[in-house]
Amino acid sequence: MQIYMPTNVYSEDNCVMNHRKELAALGKKALIVTGKHSSRINGSLEDVEKALQEENIPFILFDSIEENPSIETVMEAGELGKREQVDFVVGIGGGSPMDAAKAIALMIANPAMDESILYKNEKLPALPVAEVPTTAGTGSEVTPYAILTIHARKTKQSISHKIYPDLALIDSRYLKTAGLDTLVDTAVDALAHLLESYLNTNANSYNRMYSEKGLSLFAEIREELLSCRRQGEKPAQTLSDRVFGTLMQLAATAGMAITHTGTSLPHGLSYTLTYEMQVPHGKAVGIFLPGFLKYYQNKDEVQFVLDQMGFASVEDFTEYLDELLGKVEIPEGLWIEDVKSIMANKAKLKNYPFEMDKTTLYAFRR
Ligand code: NAP
Ligand code: FE
Repeated sequence: MQIYMPTNVYSEDNCVMNHRKELAALGKKALIVTGKHSSRINGSLEDVEKALQEENIPFILFDSIEENPSIETVMEAGELGKREQVDFVVGIGGGSPMDAAKAIALMIANPAMDESILYKNEKLPALPVAEVPTTAGTGSEVTPYAILTIHARKTKQSISHKIYPDLALIDSRYLKTAGLDTLVDTAVDALAHLLESYLNTNANSYNRMYSEKGLSLFAEIREELLSCRRQGEKPAQTLSDRVFGTLMQLAATAGMAITHTGTSLPHGLSYTLTYEMQVPHGKAVGIFLPGFLKYYQNKDEVQFVLDQMGFASVEDFTEYLDELLGKVEIPEGLWIEDVKSIMANKAKLKNYPFEMDKTTLYAFRR
């Protein structure tokens, strides 16, 4: 059994300012990486800029990371970082800017190399990375993964390099500007990480501790999430500080879980949906969670995770998710192609502890 969790994680209000010395200790000049808008609105970018200014660390900003970041965008930011001779990277935002920050850190640390290194199994250095999450979903602030869109293959895939953030600065106040869909979709992503890690070929007692804790955190807030959906109001108007704090903790805990196991079939199936139908990541994954539990062969383990979440049966869980997420109609042709590609994806299939066949996988669609 093994556990390796090297990221230094702080989680509290005013986290960035409180730990600005640790942030500044990562280097002499920073590249800040964000999405297009949200970090300006939720205060995270201002906090990071202020923290670096107070520590006399110069920085430059790349603020054009799109959702499901592409290799092209990573290369553009990498060129900027090289030109400006930065020596560490700060990712601020949801999983998209946080993942991009890791891949950019790899490209800057290997200035003579081209994009082919992203998917090469070769040990290469990367610049130090700090992450400031503003969604409660991916857990990218603690995971070594960086999932990029590969337009040439019309899908998404994690780069081959495991780049652990050196520092994760988690402040749940940033989450309060998130809209209902973003909040719900990302919470379901975190839930999927907990389930796909627990029910995984690579699972052991250590990573299962993260999943157990995370699933019980989800049980604490699941009714509040659903009632927010039913009322259709802005989360900040209905949810308490406690719920925002729990969501952030849940996401980081789920990240620690998948760090050790990787994800499984729901994540594998989701990427085509996101690429072809623009279904947000968490929602695309959530569609397949009921099928994943329904057909999972170890029924005791399924009952255990249902108990942790506070559901009596897979049917109860399905009903809950349908109401929380809404449904997505997946066109037949796209679905057949998706199933075919996962059946050919040995890396994804090996995280599933039992034999999987085409007919069962096909039945994951609802
Ligand atoms: P995201 O793509 O990072 O962001 C989704 C949207 O939410 C963007 O429009 C973003 O706006 C906005 N947003 C972010 N924070 C906000 C806030 N506090 N208030 C209001 N709006 C906010 O979404 P995500 O679900 O967090 O990340 C998804 C990506 O992470 C996918 O590429 C997925 O494959 C990857 N992922 C990574 C891991 C991992 O372990 N590394 C695990 C699972 C998924 P702006 O663009 O303006 O910022
Ligand atoms: Fe995910």
